[in-house]
Parts: sequence; structure tokens; C-alpha cells
Amino acid sequence: MSERSIPDGSYAVLGLGRSGEAVCRFLAARLEAGGVRRVVAYDSADSPELRARAQDLASSGVECVLGAESIDRAAEVAVVSPGIRPDSPLMRSALERCGEVMGEIELAFRASRSPWVAVTGTNGKTTTTALIGHLLDAAAVPCEVVGNIGRPAISVVGDMGPAAVVVAEVSSFQLRLTDRFHPRVSVLLNITPDHIDYHGSFEAYAADKARIFARQGPGDTAVIDVDDAGSAPYADTVEAAGATVVRVSRKGPVAGGAYLAGDELIVETDAGPVRVASREDLQIRGDHNVSNALAAAAAALAAGADAGSVREGLRTFVPLAHRLEPVAVVDGVEYFNDSKATNPDSVVKALTAFEDRPVVLLLGGRNKGSSFEHVAAAATRQARAVVVFGEAAAEIAEAFPERAGCPVLFAEGLRDAVARASSVAEAGDAVLLSPGCASFDEFTGYEQRGEVFRELVRGMGRR
Ligand code: ADP
Repeated sequence: MSERSIPDGSYAVLGLGRSGEAVCRFLAARLEAGGVRRVVAYDSADSPELRARAQDLASSGVECVLGAESIDRAAEVAVVSPGIRPDSPLMRSALERCGEVMGEIELAFRASRSPWVAVTGTNGKTTTTALIGHLLDAAAVPCEVVGNIGRPAISVVGDMGPAAVVVAEVSSFQLRLTDRFHPRVSVLLNITPDHIDYHGSFEAYAADKARIFARQGPGDTAVIDVDDAGSAPYADTVEAAGATVVRVSRKGPVAGGAYLAGDELIVETDAGPVRVASREDLQIRGDHNVSNALAAAAAALAAGADAGSVREGLRTFVPLAHRLEPVAVVDGVEYFNDSKATNPDSVVKALTAFEDRPVVLLLGGRNKGSSFEHVAAAATRQARAVVVFGEAAAEIAEAFPERAGCPVLFAEGLRDAVARASSVAEAGDAVLLSPGCASFDEFTGYEQRGEVFRELVRGMGRR
């Protein structure tokens, strides 16, 4: 069997979320043509919404088992959704009863004929993936942007021509269930502790991310941020395997790399160094976004974009929703929605985007067990005031030493926090929602929190 073909036989699909449903539809379309013999989908949950989905899938030949604790029939292949935990009974039964166990990304890769650009890392995946897509669009290189960011890969690969590039955001959850996955261009942004509960240890988490390189060799390119201690060590090992490695650094020139020299973003190519942007050309803010822009430019060039289009695309890319997204200027104060910052590290990164002006910082929500000491140190240097809100308010306030010079104001919830922030902010300041916590004490997710923030700010503007 070639590297790029999907196995024949019967399939068990684990998880009926968005990606699981897309896998079912892809396989169902191949039931009649032979090859795929049977598709049974399992989900441990059972709800009216899932039942409706199951009924719909049944009409295309997919059998669904809801409230399933284990798979009830052996299958040649199990396709596992990212939400299924490795130690769950469903997963254990799949390992026992199925010949091959893979994730949706692996299946999509095997089903496609396209070159892949794959992006992973603890932080910055979505921004970098979207930016690569934008740069390839600017260069008129046909591409589809897939993964967590939007559509599951499996829902587009069936209809793509072989010349079009798949640009995929891939999480460690997805990478751990790959085998033949072989991107032409890989991007590793950083590896910092996260999701350790799922992967078991930091080493296991890093090893899962590094699977992005497992099949890379001569003819492939790996773009690796070497400022980050977690990702840097992979540069030498991937180079030893024969791939071209582009090292990303904000600290200055790196041979063959993508780096910041003064305020200039430079990518070294076979044709020599190419200046792709000045720092102030970028609409995405903060040091971390300089790293993301360097990585995206290097990846787009490796995937066939021309330098002029990359230059143009870096200038025209606007921040994604909920990621340092400018919302409005009210009474001379500019409001930013960084609701996606759900851990303290992201808040520290966000503050680097505001070294030019005083900030009123909104912190709070549900703490995921993090310490706010680093945030307190950075905010004390930079913030006019901090407003703490939600479940974690008191705990966050404790991280700020008394008399450190940064007032800490308490608020009930987000609405109250925005009101307090607007009352202390002065014209020329930024008010930044970069909460450093999950949102579930008050909202259904970071998106809803960001949307409510936008509404509150725009409401003030309409007063
Ligand atoms: P992901 O998809 O990996 O969660 P996003 O692009 O959605 O990444 O960004 C999430 C948050 O992570 C941003 O709000 C920002 O605070 C932080 N972030 C983005 N890029 C980086 C980076 N290169 N290094 C560290 N933190 C980053």
C-alpha cells in the first residue's frame, strides 16, 4: 500500500463531534464504491443533539452507538477524535479490537494528494496557520486552511486538486495518532507545559509534538523557533535527518534562518536574505507575533509563495478575533479583546504589545491552577491599574505585593470589570482584556467572553 492511501475494510469512528462527523461523512461517501466496508461511530455521550446527528448519519449508511462505553465490534481501522482521552474505555477498547488506530489528520493526509504545511506549538498555532493561508492567498498559491482553526481537514481533502496546498493547524492530540503523516513544510513554534494531564508528562507532550517531523527528510523544510527552549533542541535532530531547517529567532541573525535584525524581519532563502517586513508593518502586535510572522513567512516561502506577495501579505493580515483584537476607541482609550489568553504566559506576551502606553489590564475568570506571579511582575511595571474579576479575583490579587505601585481593583464580573476599567483609564491608554484564565465561571467559552466584551465596549461608545 502506498504512503498516501486509506485502508480498506471496516471502520470504527470514536467521537461524534465536528471532526468525527466529518470523518463519518468522508467514509460514508466511500461505502458504495467498495474499499470502506462498514462505518460504526461511537460516542460516550448521549444527547438530543447527538441523536439528531446520528439519525442524519444513519441515512448515509453510518451506524451510530451513543452512550457507548467501549466499541462493541472489531474493526480494521479506528479513527479517533482529538477529544477522546488516551486512557478512556473507548480508546482502550479500540486499541484492543482494531488493527490500526489513527487520528483524523492521519486519515486526511493519506486521503489527499496535496503537499501539506503543518503548524504546531503550545501557543500561536491558529494565528500562524491563518497567516500562512493569507500569505499563500496573496501569492495566488491555491490552498485550504484546515484543522482546529476551522474546518476539519477530512472535509476538504476529497475535493482538492493535487497542486493545492493543505495548511493545517495540528495539535499534539492529533499528532500522537499519526504514523505516515509527512508534511512538506512543518512549523514548530514553541513547547511549554500545557495539557500535561492528558499526555502524562512534559516529555510525552513534547514527544507528541515532535511527531510532526517524524517522516521529514531531504526535500522537506522544518521551521523551528529556536528562542523557545522547548522547541530549539529539535532543530539539530531534524537537520540530521536531512530536512532543510529554518531557525526562527528574534534575537538576531541566524544562518539560513528567519530572524529579526533591528526592526527588520529577514528570511534567508536560497537566493539570499529577503527583507519581508518591518516590525511596524505588522498589524498583529507583540513580540510573540513577530515570531509568528517570521515563522509564517518562512513557511510560505518554502511552500512556493514569492517574496513580494509575502511582503504584501504580512502588511495586510489583521488580528484574528479574540487575539489582541482592537475593538474600539472610546473617549481616547483603545480597547483590546485578548479573550483567547487563558493562561498567564499569554498575558505576559500580550503586555509586550503595549510598551508604548499605559494599560488597564482585566484579569480573571476560572484559574486553571496557574501562578500569577510573572503576570504581576509585568503588570506592575506596565499597568496603570489591574481589574480582577470572576472566580479567581482574590487569588490573582494576592499575587500583587502591597504598595508595589499598581492599584488592583475588584469587580464582580466582566460587565463590572469593564465599567471599572473605563473609569480609571485616561485618554491615550489601552484597556486590555487578557484574562489569563478560563471563562467557564461566567461564559460558555473564550469566544462568548470576547463577544460580550466587544458588546460592552461598543455600548459605551454609543452612550
Ligand atoms: P493557539 O491556536 O496555539 O492557541 P493562538 O494563535 O490562538 O494560538 O494564540 C493564543 C494566545 O497565545 C494568544 O492570545 C497569545 O497571547 C499567545 N501566543 C500567540 N503566539 C504566541 C507565541 N509565538 N508564543 C507565545 N505565546 C503566543
